[in-house]
Amino acid sequence: TMVRIRRALLSVSDKTSLVGMGTYLSENGVELLSTGGTAAALRDAGLSVVDVADYTGFPEMLDGRVKTLHPKVHGGLLGMRDVAAHVDAMAAADILPIDLVIVNLYPFGATVARGAPWAEVVENVDIGGPAMVRAAAKNHAHVTVVTDVAQYAAVLNELADNNCATGSRLRLRLAAEAYGAMAAYDAAVARRFHQQAGTAFPPVVTWAGQLRQELRYGENPHQKAAFYADVTGAGGAPGVASAEQIQGKALSYNNISDTDAAWALVAEFDASADGPACVIVKHANPCGVALGDDAAAAFTRALACDPLSAFGSIVALNVAVDKAAAEAVSGLFVEVLIAPDVSSGAAEVLAKKKNLRVLLTGGMPARSDAGAASVLKSVSGGYLLQGADAALATPDGVRVVTKRAPTAAELTDLLFANRIVKHVKSNAILFARDRSAVGTGAGQMSRVDAARIAAWKAGEAGRAAGEADGARTAGSVVASDAFFPFDDGLVAVAEAGATAVIQPGGSKRDAEVIAAADERGMAMVFCDFRTFKH
Ligand code: 5GP
Repeated sequence: TMVRIRRALLSVSDKTSLVGMGTYLSENGVELLSTGGTAAALRDAGLSVVDVADYTGFPEMLDGRVKTLHPKVHGGLLGMRDVAAHVDAMAAADILPIDLVIVNLYPFGATVARGAPWAEVVENVDIGGPAMVRAAAKNHAHVTVVTDVAQYAAVLNELADNNCATGSRLRLRLAAEAYGAMAAYDAAVARRFHQQAGTAFPPVVTWAGQLRQELRYGENPHQKAAFYADVTGAGGAPGVASAEQIQGKALSYNNISDTDAAWALVAEFDASADGPACVIVKHANPCGVALGDDAAAAFTRALACDPLSAFGSIVALNVAVDKAAAEAVSGLFVEVLIAPDVSSGAAEVLAKKKNLRVLLTGGMPARSDAGAASVLKSVSGGYLLQGADAALATPDGVRVVTKRAPTAAELTDLLFANRIVKHVKSNAILFARDRSAVGTGAGQMSRVDAARIAAWKAGEAGRAAGEADGARTAGSVVASDAFFPFDDGLVAVAEAGATAVIQPGGSKRDAEVIAAADERGMAMVFCDFRTFKH
Protein backbone atom coordinates (compact mmCIF):
# COMPACT_ATOMS: atom_id res chain seq x y z
CA THR A 1 0.00 0.00 0.00
CA MET A 2 1.11 3.54 -0.76
CA VAL A 3 1.83 5.96 2.09
CA ARG A 4 1.68 9.69 1.35
CA ILE A 5 4.49 11.61 3.03
CA ARG A 6 3.12 14.59 5.01
CA ARG A 7 5.79 15.07 7.67
CA ALA A 8 9.50 14.30 7.45
CA LEU A 9 12.25 14.39 10.05
CA LEU A 10 15.69 15.18 8.70
CA SER A 11 18.78 14.83 10.89
CA VAL A 12 21.95 14.20 8.96
CA SER A 13 25.66 14.49 9.54
CA ASP A 14 26.47 14.09 5.84
CA LYS A 15 24.60 17.04 4.33
CA THR A 16 25.33 16.07 0.68
CA SER A 17 22.20 16.56 -1.49
CA LEU A 18 20.24 17.57 1.63
CA VAL A 19 18.96 20.82 0.11
CA GLY A 20 17.72 19.04 -3.04
CA MET A 21 15.83 16.52 -0.97
CA GLY A 22 14.44 19.19 1.40
CA THR A 23 13.36 21.38 -1.51
CA TYR A 24 11.48 18.54 -3.21
CA LEU A 25 9.67 17.66 0.01
CA SER A 26 8.85 21.28 0.83
CA GLU A 27 7.48 21.92 -2.67
CA ASN A 28 5.21 18.92 -2.24
CA GLY A 29 3.70 20.24 0.97
CA VAL A 30 5.69 18.06 3.34
CA GLU A 31 6.35 19.60 6.75
CA LEU A 32 10.04 19.46 7.65
CA LEU A 33 11.20 18.71 11.19
CA SER A 34 14.89 18.96 11.83
CA THR A 35 17.77 19.14 14.32
CA GLY A 36 20.33 21.93 14.87
CA GLY A 37 22.86 21.76 12.05
CA THR A 38 20.48 20.14 9.59
CA ALA A 39 17.77 22.74 10.24
CA ALA A 40 20.32 25.53 9.75
CA ALA A 41 21.41 24.13 6.39
CA LEU A 42 17.80 23.85 5.20
CA ARG A 43 16.98 27.39 6.36
CA ASP A 44 20.06 28.72 4.58
CA ALA A 45 18.51 27.35 1.40
CA GLY A 46 15.33 29.31 2.14
CA LEU A 47 13.20 26.39 3.29
CA SER A 48 10.87 26.63 6.25
CA VAL A 49 11.69 24.15 8.98
CA VAL A 50 10.28 23.27 12.40
CA ASP A 51 12.97 22.64 15.01
CA VAL A 52 12.54 19.31 16.77
CA ALA A 53 13.10 21.21 20.04
CA ASP A 54 10.08 23.43 19.27
CA TYR A 55 7.95 20.41 18.36
CA THR A 56 8.90 18.48 21.52
CA GLY A 57 9.00 21.52 23.76
CA PHE A 58 12.31 20.19 25.03
CA PRO A 59 15.66 21.77 24.14
CA GLU A 60 18.59 20.00 22.56
CA MET A 61 20.89 19.36 25.53
CA LEU A 62 24.02 17.68 26.88
CA ASP A 63 26.13 18.88 23.94
CA GLY A 64 23.73 17.26 21.48
CA ARG A 65 23.75 13.88 23.23
CA VAL A 66 20.00 14.37 23.65
CA LYS A 67 18.33 15.90 20.59
CA THR A 68 15.61 13.65 19.31
CA LEU A 69 15.25 11.18 22.17
CA HIS A 70 11.71 12.22 23.08
CA PRO A 71 8.30 10.46 23.08
CA LYS A 72 6.92 13.04 20.68
CA VAL A 73 9.55 11.94 18.15
CA HIS A 74 9.55 8.21 18.87
CA GLY A 75 5.76 8.09 19.27
CA GLY A 76 5.45 9.76 15.88
CA LEU A 77 7.73 7.10 14.38
CA LEU A 78 6.37 4.02 16.14
CA GLY A 79 2.61 4.68 16.33
CA MET A 80 0.55 2.43 14.05
CA ARG A 81 -1.73 4.53 11.90
CA ASP A 82 -4.26 1.73 11.41
CA VAL A 83 -4.70 0.90 15.10
CA ALA A 84 -7.37 3.11 16.69
CA ALA A 85 -5.84 2.92 20.17
CA HIS A 86 -2.51 4.13 18.80
CA VAL A 87 -4.13 6.96 16.89
CA ASP A 88 -6.08 8.05 20.01
CA ALA A 89 -3.03 7.83 22.27
CA MET A 90 -0.99 9.89 19.83
CA ALA A 91 -3.69 12.55 19.59
CA ALA A 92 -4.03 12.71 23.38
CA ALA A 93 -0.29 13.32 23.76
CA ASP A 94 -0.03 15.80 20.87
CA ILE A 95 2.16 13.35 18.95
CA LEU A 96 2.20 13.97 15.21
CA PRO A 97 2.85 11.10 12.79
CA ILE A 98 6.26 11.27 11.09
CA ASP A 99 6.12 9.50 7.72
CA LEU A 100 9.68 9.87 6.51
CA VAL A 101 12.96 9.79 8.43
CA ILE A 102 16.16 10.85 6.76
CA VAL A 103 19.06 10.19 9.09
CA ASN A 104 22.69 9.51 8.54
CA LEU A 105 24.84 9.00 11.58
CA TYR A 106 27.78 10.77 13.17
CA PRO A 107 30.83 9.89 11.07
CA PHE A 108 32.22 7.32 13.48
CA GLY A 109 34.37 5.49 10.93
CA ALA A 110 35.98 8.68 9.63
CA THR A 111 36.66 9.88 13.20
CA VAL A 112 38.44 6.62 13.97
CA ALA A 113 40.29 6.67 10.65
CA ARG A 114 41.87 10.05 11.32
CA GLY A 115 43.14 8.81 14.68
CA ALA A 116 40.98 11.08 16.83
CA PRO A 117 41.54 10.93 20.61
CA TRP A 118 39.38 8.53 22.61
CA ALA A 119 37.06 11.20 24.05
CA GLU A 120 36.24 12.38 20.55
CA VAL A 121 35.74 8.81 19.37
CA VAL A 122 33.24 8.28 22.19
CA GLU A 123 31.44 11.54 21.40
CA ASN A 124 31.01 10.29 17.83
CA VAL A 125 28.95 7.30 18.87
CA ASP A 126 25.54 8.32 17.58
CA ILE A 127 22.70 7.46 19.95
CA GLY A 128 19.60 9.31 18.83
CA GLY A 129 20.16 8.62 15.11
CA PRO A 130 20.17 4.82 15.40
CA ALA A 131 17.20 4.99 17.79
CA MET A 132 15.14 6.86 15.17
CA VAL A 133 16.33 4.61 12.36
CA ARG A 134 15.41 1.45 14.27
CA ALA A 135 12.01 2.84 15.24
CA ALA A 136 11.20 3.92 11.70
CA ALA A 137 12.39 0.62 10.22
CA LYS A 138 10.28 -1.34 12.68
CA ASN A 139 7.24 0.67 11.63
CA HIS A 140 8.02 0.28 7.91
CA ALA A 141 4.36 -0.51 7.28
CA HIS A 142 3.81 3.24 7.69
CA VAL A 143 7.19 4.93 7.74
CA THR A 144 9.92 5.36 5.13
CA VAL A 145 13.49 5.36 6.45
CA VAL A 146 16.48 6.69 4.54
CA THR A 147 19.95 6.12 5.99
CA ASP A 148 22.28 6.88 3.11
CA VAL A 149 22.66 9.66 0.54
CA ALA A 150 23.03 6.88 -2.04
CA GLN A 151 19.33 6.03 -1.49
CA TYR A 152 18.05 9.56 -2.27
CA ALA A 153 17.70 9.00 -6.03
CA ALA A 154 15.56 5.86 -5.63
CA VAL A 155 13.38 7.55 -3.00
CA LEU A 156 12.92 10.72 -5.08
CA ASN A 157 11.96 8.60 -8.11
CA GLU A 158 9.39 6.72 -6.08
CA LEU A 159 7.93 9.96 -4.67
CA ALA A 160 7.85 11.60 -8.10
CA ASP A 161 6.02 8.61 -9.61
CA ASN A 162 3.46 8.34 -6.82
CA ASN A 163 2.35 11.84 -5.80
CA CYS A 164 4.81 12.01 -2.94
CA ALA A 165 3.96 8.54 -1.61
CA THR A 166 6.07 5.40 -1.16
CA GLY A 167 5.11 1.76 -1.72
CA SER A 168 5.48 -1.06 0.79
CA ARG A 169 8.17 -2.84 -1.27
CA LEU A 170 10.49 0.15 -1.14
CA ARG A 171 9.75 0.78 2.53
CA LEU A 172 10.58 -2.82 3.43
CA ARG A 173 13.79 -2.78 1.39
CA LEU A 174 14.86 0.49 3.01
CA ALA A 175 14.08 -0.94 6.47
CA ALA A 176 16.27 -3.99 5.76
CA GLU A 177 19.07 -1.73 4.55
CA ALA A 178 18.61 0.42 7.66
CA TYR A 179 19.13 -2.52 10.02
CA GLY A 180 22.16 -3.59 7.99
CA ALA A 181 23.58 -0.08 8.23
CA MET A 182 23.01 -0.01 12.00
CA ALA A 183 24.69 -3.43 12.35
CA ALA A 184 27.68 -2.20 10.35
CA TYR A 185 27.84 0.96 12.47
CA ASP A 186 27.68 -1.03 15.69
CA ALA A 187 30.38 -3.37 14.33
CA ALA A 188 32.68 -0.39 13.76
CA VAL A 189 31.94 0.92 17.26
CA ALA A 190 32.46 -2.53 18.81
CA ARG A 191 35.75 -2.96 16.97
CA ARG A 192 37.14 0.37 18.20
CA PHE A 193 35.93 -0.30 21.75
CA HIS A 194 37.53 -3.77 21.66
CA GLN A 195 40.74 -2.16 20.45
CA GLN A 196 40.64 0.26 23.37
CA ALA A 197 40.01 -2.65 25.74
CA GLY A 198 42.80 -4.71 24.19
CA THR A 199 40.44 -7.45 23.04
CA ALA A 200 40.10 -6.65 19.33
CA PHE A 201 38.47 -9.11 16.93
CA PRO A 202 37.42 -8.66 13.31
CA PRO A 203 34.27 -6.55 12.97
CA VAL A 204 32.40 -9.23 11.07
CA VAL A 205 32.63 -11.45 14.11
CA THR A 206 31.53 -8.80 16.58
CA TRP A 207 28.58 -8.16 14.29
CA ALA A 208 27.25 -11.66 13.61
CA GLY A 209 29.14 -13.84 16.03
CA GLN A 210 28.54 -14.89 19.59
CA LEU A 211 31.61 -16.17 21.39
CA ARG A 212 31.24 -19.90 21.84
CA GLN A 213 34.72 -20.76 23.06
CA GLU A 214 38.06 -19.06 23.63
CA LEU A 215 40.60 -21.32 21.92
CA ARG A 216 44.02 -21.97 23.41
CA TYR A 217 45.51 -21.14 20.02
CA GLY A 218 44.77 -21.15 16.30
CA GLU A 219 46.00 -23.37 13.50
CA ASN A 220 49.42 -23.14 15.19
CA PRO A 221 50.38 -22.47 18.82
CA HIS A 222 51.63 -18.96 18.07
CA GLN A 223 48.27 -17.83 16.62
CA LYS A 224 45.42 -16.40 18.74
CA ALA A 225 41.95 -17.78 18.03
CA ALA A 226 38.35 -17.98 19.15
CA PHE A 227 35.23 -19.86 18.06
CA TYR A 228 32.01 -17.95 17.32
CA ALA A 229 28.48 -19.10 16.58
CA ASP A 230 26.52 -17.17 13.93
CA VAL A 231 23.61 -15.42 15.62
CA THR A 232 21.87 -14.38 12.41
CA GLY A 233 20.66 -17.91 11.68
CA ALA A 234 22.38 -17.87 8.28
CA GLY A 235 21.92 -21.57 7.45
CA GLY A 236 24.15 -24.51 8.19
CA ALA A 237 22.31 -25.68 11.30
CA PRO A 238 22.24 -28.23 12.80
CA GLY A 239 25.97 -27.84 12.48
CA VAL A 240 29.30 -27.74 14.24
CA ALA A 241 28.82 -24.35 15.93
CA SER A 242 25.45 -25.34 17.39
CA ALA A 243 26.43 -28.89 18.38
CA GLU A 244 26.57 -30.04 21.99
CA GLN A 245 29.82 -31.55 23.20
CA ILE A 246 28.96 -34.41 25.57
CA GLN A 247 32.48 -35.54 26.47
CA GLY A 248 36.19 -35.17 25.83
CA LYS A 249 38.87 -32.49 25.94
CA ALA A 250 38.20 -28.96 24.73
CA LEU A 251 38.00 -28.59 20.96
CA SER A 252 40.98 -27.05 19.22
CA TYR A 253 40.91 -24.76 16.21
CA ASN A 254 41.96 -27.59 13.88
CA ASN A 255 39.44 -29.97 15.48
CA ILE A 256 36.64 -27.53 14.71
CA SER A 257 37.78 -26.82 11.18
CA ASP A 258 38.28 -30.51 10.32
CA THR A 259 35.03 -31.49 12.02
CA ASP A 260 33.26 -28.98 9.83
CA ALA A 261 34.80 -30.55 6.72
CA ALA A 262 33.67 -34.00 7.85
CA TRP A 263 30.20 -32.77 8.75
CA ALA A 264 29.66 -30.97 5.43
CA LEU A 265 30.63 -34.13 3.55
CA VAL A 266 28.55 -36.58 5.59
CA ALA A 267 25.57 -34.22 5.20
CA GLU A 268 25.73 -34.94 1.45
CA PHE A 269 24.17 -38.29 2.29
CA ASP A 270 20.57 -38.45 3.35
CA ALA A 271 20.18 -41.34 5.77
CA SER A 272 16.68 -42.20 4.52
CA ALA A 273 17.59 -42.10 0.81
CA ASP A 274 21.24 -43.20 0.81
CA GLY A 275 21.52 -45.09 4.09
CA PRO A 276 24.07 -44.67 6.88
CA ALA A 277 27.22 -42.84 5.79
CA CYS A 278 30.55 -42.39 7.52
CA VAL A 279 33.29 -39.86 6.74
CA ILE A 280 36.83 -39.88 8.15
CA VAL A 281 38.77 -36.62 7.77
CA LYS A 282 42.38 -35.62 8.30
CA HIS A 283 43.62 -32.09 7.62
CA ALA A 284 40.31 -31.10 6.02
CA ASN A 285 40.40 -33.91 3.43
CA PRO A 286 38.51 -37.20 3.56
CA CYS A 287 40.70 -40.30 3.97
CA GLY A 288 37.65 -42.55 4.16
CA VAL A 289 34.04 -42.28 3.05
CA ALA A 290 31.53 -45.10 2.77
CA LEU A 291 27.89 -46.04 2.90
CA GLY A 292 26.96 -49.16 4.88
CA ASP A 293 24.01 -51.18 6.09
CA ASP A 294 24.41 -49.68 9.55
CA ALA A 295 26.63 -47.11 11.27
CA ALA A 296 29.26 -49.67 12.29
CA ALA A 297 29.49 -51.09 8.76
CA ALA A 298 29.76 -47.60 7.25
CA PHE A 299 32.60 -46.78 9.66
CA THR A 300 34.46 -50.07 9.05
CA ARG A 301 34.15 -49.68 5.28
CA ALA A 302 35.27 -46.02 5.45
CA LEU A 303 38.25 -46.94 7.63
CA ALA A 304 39.41 -49.57 5.13
CA CYS A 305 40.20 -46.83 2.57
CA ASP A 306 43.26 -45.51 4.38
CA PRO A 307 43.67 -46.80 7.97
CA LEU A 308 47.17 -45.32 8.21
CA SER A 309 45.93 -41.75 7.64
CA ALA A 310 42.85 -42.31 9.84
CA PHE A 311 45.00 -42.28 13.00
CA GLY A 312 44.01 -39.13 14.92
CA SER A 313 41.14 -38.33 12.57
CA ILE A 314 37.67 -36.82 12.76
CA VAL A 315 34.78 -39.25 12.27
CA ALA A 316 31.33 -38.08 11.15
CA LEU A 317 28.14 -40.13 10.84
CA ASN A 318 24.80 -39.12 9.34
CA VAL A 319 22.90 -41.43 11.72
CA ALA A 320 22.88 -41.88 15.49
CA VAL A 321 25.84 -43.76 16.93
CA ASP A 322 24.67 -47.15 18.20
CA LYS A 323 26.58 -49.50 20.49
CA ALA A 324 28.20 -51.46 17.67
CA ALA A 325 29.40 -48.26 15.96
CA ALA A 326 30.70 -46.90 19.28
CA GLU A 327 32.70 -50.10 19.81
CA ALA A 328 34.10 -49.95 16.28
CA VAL A 329 35.11 -46.28 16.58
CA SER A 330 36.66 -46.96 20.00
CA GLY A 331 39.18 -49.23 18.32
CA LEU A 332 40.75 -46.28 16.52
CA PHE A 333 42.49 -43.18 17.92
CA VAL A 334 39.93 -40.51 16.97
CA GLU A 335 40.10 -36.80 17.86
CA VAL A 336 36.41 -35.98 17.34
CA LEU A 337 33.25 -37.99 16.66
CA ILE A 338 30.29 -35.99 15.35
CA ALA A 339 26.81 -37.41 14.76
CA PRO A 340 23.17 -36.39 15.10
CA ASP A 341 22.74 -38.46 18.29
CA VAL A 342 24.01 -41.41 20.37
CA SER A 343 22.12 -44.31 21.90
CA SER A 344 22.56 -44.70 25.67
CA GLY A 345 24.48 -47.95 25.14
CA ALA A 346 26.83 -46.13 22.75
CA ALA A 347 27.32 -43.26 25.18
CA GLU A 348 28.49 -45.73 27.84
CA VAL A 349 31.04 -47.26 25.45
CA LEU A 350 32.33 -43.87 24.28
CA ALA A 351 32.60 -42.54 27.85
CA LYS A 352 35.49 -44.97 28.43
CA LYS A 353 37.51 -43.03 25.84
CA LYS A 354 38.05 -40.03 28.13
CA ASN A 355 39.85 -37.87 25.59
CA LEU A 356 37.51 -38.52 22.65
CA ARG A 357 35.46 -35.41 21.91
CA VAL A 358 31.89 -36.33 21.02
CA LEU A 359 29.67 -33.71 19.36
CA LEU A 360 25.94 -34.19 18.92
CA THR A 361 24.08 -31.97 16.49
CA GLY A 362 20.56 -33.16 17.20
CA GLY A 363 19.83 -33.68 13.50
CA MET A 364 21.07 -33.36 9.95
CA PRO A 365 20.83 -30.16 7.89
CA ALA A 366 18.60 -30.30 4.83
CA ARG A 367 20.59 -30.14 1.58
CA SER A 368 18.58 -27.05 0.61
CA ASP A 369 19.69 -25.32 3.82
CA ALA A 370 23.30 -26.04 3.02
CA GLY A 371 22.79 -24.28 -0.32
CA ALA A 372 21.46 -21.15 1.33
CA ALA A 373 24.28 -20.88 3.84
CA SER A 374 26.96 -18.40 2.93
CA VAL A 375 30.65 -19.13 3.07
CA LEU A 376 32.91 -16.38 4.36
CA LYS A 377 36.63 -16.25 3.84
CA SER A 378 38.92 -13.42 4.81
CA VAL A 379 41.38 -11.83 2.43
CA SER A 380 43.88 -9.09 3.30
CA GLY A 381 41.71 -6.10 4.21
CA GLY A 382 38.38 -7.68 3.35
CA TYR A 383 36.12 -10.66 2.97
CA LEU A 384 34.99 -12.99 0.24
CA LEU A 385 31.42 -14.23 0.46
CA GLN A 386 29.78 -16.99 -1.57
CA GLY A 387 26.85 -19.38 -1.33
CA ALA A 388 27.55 -22.92 -0.18
CA ASP A 389 28.26 -25.35 -3.05
CA ALA A 390 24.97 -27.20 -3.33
CA ALA A 391 25.66 -28.74 -6.75
CA LEU A 392 24.39 -32.31 -7.01
CA ALA A 393 24.72 -34.75 -9.92
CA THR A 394 21.64 -36.88 -10.59
CA PRO A 395 21.22 -39.95 -12.82
CA ASP A 396 19.30 -37.85 -15.37
CA GLY A 397 21.53 -34.82 -15.02
CA VAL A 398 24.71 -36.40 -16.41
CA ARG A 399 25.64 -36.86 -20.11
CA VAL A 400 27.33 -39.97 -21.41
CA VAL A 401 30.13 -38.83 -23.74
CA THR A 402 31.84 -42.15 -24.50
CA LYS A 403 30.75 -45.00 -26.78
CA ARG A 404 30.09 -47.11 -23.71
CA ALA A 405 27.54 -45.95 -21.15
CA PRO A 406 28.22 -46.73 -17.49
CA THR A 407 26.55 -49.83 -16.05
CA ALA A 408 23.98 -49.25 -13.31
CA ALA A 409 26.57 -50.17 -10.66
CA GLU A 410 29.16 -47.84 -12.20
CA LEU A 411 26.66 -44.98 -12.35
CA THR A 412 25.78 -45.43 -8.66
CA ASP A 413 29.45 -45.24 -7.75
CA LEU A 414 30.09 -42.31 -10.12
CA LEU A 415 27.39 -40.22 -8.45
CA PHE A 416 28.67 -41.27 -5.02
CA ALA A 417 32.24 -40.27 -5.97
CA ASN A 418 31.09 -36.95 -7.43
CA ARG A 419 29.46 -35.99 -4.12
CA ILE A 420 32.69 -36.73 -2.27
CA VAL A 421 35.17 -35.11 -4.64
CA LYS A 422 33.37 -31.80 -4.09
CA HIS A 423 34.72 -31.91 -0.52
CA VAL A 424 38.31 -32.74 -1.44
CA LYS A 425 40.78 -29.86 -1.80
CA SER A 426 41.57 -29.09 -5.46
CA ASN A 427 42.97 -30.44 -7.63
CA ALA A 428 41.13 -33.56 -6.59
CA ILE A 429 40.80 -37.06 -7.99
CA LEU A 430 38.90 -39.75 -6.17
CA PHE A 431 38.66 -43.50 -6.81
CA ALA A 432 35.54 -45.24 -5.48
CA ARG A 433 34.14 -48.73 -5.58
CA ASP A 434 31.01 -50.29 -4.16
CA ARG A 435 29.89 -47.02 -2.48
CA SER A 436 33.21 -46.63 -0.72
CA ALA A 437 36.12 -44.29 -1.42
CA VAL A 438 39.29 -46.26 -2.18
CA GLY A 439 41.87 -43.60 -3.01
CA THR A 440 42.12 -39.81 -2.80
CA GLY A 441 44.50 -37.41 -4.50
CA ALA A 442 43.97 -34.04 -2.79
CA GLY A 443 45.26 -30.51 -3.03
CA GLN A 444 47.63 -30.99 -5.97
CA MET A 445 48.78 -28.24 -8.27
CA SER A 446 48.38 -30.50 -11.29
CA ARG A 447 45.53 -32.86 -12.07
CA VAL A 448 47.75 -35.64 -13.34
CA ASP A 449 49.62 -35.64 -10.00
CA ALA A 450 46.29 -35.85 -8.15
CA ALA A 451 45.38 -38.87 -10.33
CA ARG A 452 48.72 -40.60 -9.72
CA ILE A 453 48.62 -39.95 -5.97
CA ALA A 454 45.05 -41.26 -5.68
CA ALA A 455 46.01 -44.48 -7.47
CA TRP A 456 49.22 -44.83 -5.47
CA LYS A 457 47.41 -44.32 -2.14
CA ALA A 458 44.80 -46.95 -3.02
CA GLY A 459 47.66 -49.32 -3.92
CA GLU A 460 49.51 -48.68 -0.65
CA ALA A 461 46.39 -49.32 1.45
CA GLY A 462 45.71 -52.52 -0.52
CA ARG A 463 49.29 -53.76 -0.03
CA ALA A 464 49.12 -53.03 3.71
CA ALA A 465 45.91 -55.08 3.86
CA GLY A 466 47.61 -57.97 2.08
CA GLU A 467 45.57 -57.62 -1.10
CA ALA A 468 46.81 -58.33 -4.62
CA ASP A 469 48.52 -55.41 -6.41
CA GLY A 470 46.00 -53.05 -7.97
CA ALA A 471 43.05 -54.98 -6.54
CA ARG A 472 41.43 -51.88 -5.07
CA THR A 473 41.39 -49.75 -8.21
CA ALA A 474 40.65 -52.58 -10.66
CA GLY A 475 37.05 -52.06 -11.74
CA SER A 476 36.74 -48.83 -9.74
CA VAL A 477 35.25 -45.51 -10.86
CA VAL A 478 36.86 -42.08 -10.72
CA ALA A 479 35.56 -38.58 -10.04
CA SER A 480 37.49 -35.47 -11.00
CA ASP A 481 36.56 -32.09 -9.44
CA ALA A 482 37.25 -30.26 -12.72
CA PHE A 483 37.89 -31.18 -16.34
CA PHE A 484 41.00 -33.02 -17.49
CA PRO A 485 43.02 -30.38 -19.36
CA PHE A 486 44.98 -33.17 -21.15
CA ASP A 487 44.43 -36.89 -21.56
CA ASP A 488 47.34 -37.78 -19.22
CA GLY A 489 45.24 -37.75 -16.04
CA LEU A 490 42.63 -39.96 -17.64
CA VAL A 491 45.30 -42.37 -18.87
CA ALA A 492 46.73 -42.53 -15.34
CA VAL A 493 43.41 -43.57 -13.79
CA ALA A 494 42.75 -46.02 -16.64
CA GLU A 495 46.15 -47.64 -16.08
CA ALA A 496 45.22 -48.05 -12.41
CA GLY A 497 42.19 -50.06 -13.54
CA ALA A 498 39.31 -47.55 -13.37
CA THR A 499 36.50 -48.38 -15.80
CA ALA A 500 34.31 -45.27 -15.52
CA VAL A 501 34.82 -41.55 -14.95
CA ILE A 502 32.68 -38.57 -13.95
CA GLN A 503 33.95 -35.05 -14.58
CA PRO A 504 32.44 -31.72 -15.60
CA GLY A 505 33.91 -31.58 -19.11
CA GLY A 506 34.47 -28.27 -20.84
CA SER A 507 38.16 -28.55 -21.68
CA LYS A 508 39.44 -27.46 -25.09
CA ARG A 509 40.82 -30.99 -25.33
CA ASP A 510 37.64 -32.85 -24.31
CA ALA A 511 37.74 -34.69 -27.66
CA GLU A 512 41.22 -36.08 -26.90
CA VAL A 513 40.18 -37.11 -23.39
CA ILE A 514 37.02 -38.81 -24.70
CA ALA A 515 39.05 -40.60 -27.40
CA ALA A 516 41.50 -41.87 -24.75
CA ALA A 517 38.56 -43.22 -22.73
CA ASP A 518 36.99 -44.86 -25.79
CA GLU A 519 40.29 -46.52 -26.75
CA ARG A 520 40.29 -48.18 -23.33
CA GLY A 521 36.62 -49.16 -23.33
CA MET A 522 35.84 -46.80 -20.46
CA ALA A 523 32.52 -45.14 -19.75
CA MET A 524 32.61 -41.41 -19.07
CA VAL A 525 29.88 -38.96 -18.05
CA PHE A 526 29.96 -35.17 -17.86
CA CYS A 527 28.10 -33.54 -14.94
CA ASP A 528 28.62 -30.03 -16.39
CA PHE A 529 29.56 -28.44 -13.06
CA ARG A 530 32.94 -28.05 -11.49
CA THR A 531 33.53 -28.31 -7.74
CA PHE A 532 36.77 -26.58 -6.87
CA LYS A 533 37.53 -26.29 -3.18
CA HIS A 534 40.51 -24.33 -1.93
P1 5GP B 1 22.65 18.15 13.26
O1 5GP B 1 23.78 18.36 12.25
O2 5GP B 1 21.32 18.19 12.63
O3 5GP B 1 22.80 19.02 14.47
O4 5GP B 1 22.83 16.66 13.81
C1 5GP B 1 22.56 15.56 12.99
C2 5GP B 1 23.12 14.32 13.61
O5 5GP B 1 22.63 14.14 14.94
C3 5GP B 1 22.70 13.07 12.86
O6 5GP B 1 23.89 12.35 12.51
C4 5GP B 1 21.82 12.28 13.84
O7 5GP B 1 22.00 10.89 13.67
C5 5GP B 1 22.29 12.78 15.18
N1 5GP B 1 21.25 12.76 16.22
C6 5GP B 1 19.94 13.01 16.09
N2 5GP B 1 19.33 12.95 17.30
C7 5GP B 1 20.28 12.63 18.21
C8 5GP B 1 20.26 12.42 19.64
O8 5GP B 1 19.23 12.52 20.31
N3 5GP B 1 21.45 12.06 20.23
C9 5GP B 1 22.60 11.94 19.51
N4 5GP B 1 23.73 11.59 20.16
N5 5GP B 1 22.63 12.14 18.18
C10 5GP B 1 21.50 12.48 17.54
